[in-house]
Amino acid sequence: MANPSRYPANIRQVAAALAARYADFDHHNLKDPLDELLFIICSTKTAETGYRATFDKLKRSFPTPRDLAEAPAEYIAKPIASGGLSGQKSRAIRAILDAVNDRFGAPTLEPLRGMSDRDAEAFLTALPNVGKKVARCVLLYAFGRRVFPVDTHCWRIARRLGWVRRTQKDGHCAPRDADRLQAKIPPELRFSLHVNFISLGREICAAGKPNCAACPLTAWCRRVGVNPRASRGSPPVRQPQPGKRDARDG
Ligand code: SF4
Repeated sequence: MANPSRYPANIRQVAAALAARYADFDHHNLKDPLDELLFIICSTKTAETGYRATFDKLKRSFPTPRDLAEAPAEYIAKPIASGGLSGQKSRAIRAILDAVNDRFGAPTLEPLRGMSDRDAEAFLTALPNVGKKVARCVLLYAFGRRVFPVDTHCWRIARRLGWVRRTQKDGHCAPRDADRLQAKIPPELRFSLHVNFISLGREICAAGKPNCAACPLTAWCRRVGVNPRASRGSPPVRQPQPGKRDARDG
């Protein structure tokens, strides 16, 4: 069980401010777990409008999971070609469907509903091309589990807020970083913070030039690693522990 004393002191104010602005918009994610997993595979390195159209074409070409499960990778590649990387994505979809079929005897992820979070995540991350972030998206969106997928927006904003520090030289979120950040989020806030961090990252807290002047989180944000000349807005809140600031954050 998570330890409440480890949660960031400002986490409930941050969650409330974001919920007031973005209303927990779910970014069109899907309730069927296999659809959600394939939707995420289709979204890799593709703009939002592009991957939604790509997934719709895939569903029109293969209306049922069984239709898709029987299709060769080159047939799967055709309807998703407009999203890019169709060869790679179609092979990943083919390999995932084979693995799911082998385990459950049908192209479905519904049996995960009866598993614990830990076992369901272990099954999903053992699938080809599925890491912690993707597995937790399926668990969060399709099964309503209280997990926190750490995508690029969540990782960047949590670091700027001062909730978590980077451990990798290149700044990417390692699996243990994803676990550390998840443990810092109260389970009942995980869905809300995940979807609203994505909204904030797309609208205001961009990777290159955050628009701090327009941000609803200025009162609580330490702006760790944010270049004041690159951001727009008032100075960051006072650093409680300036000596522990991670100069590698960017
Ligand atoms: S205050 Fe600036 S750095 Fe902090 S979350 Fe808002 S936009 Fe991002």
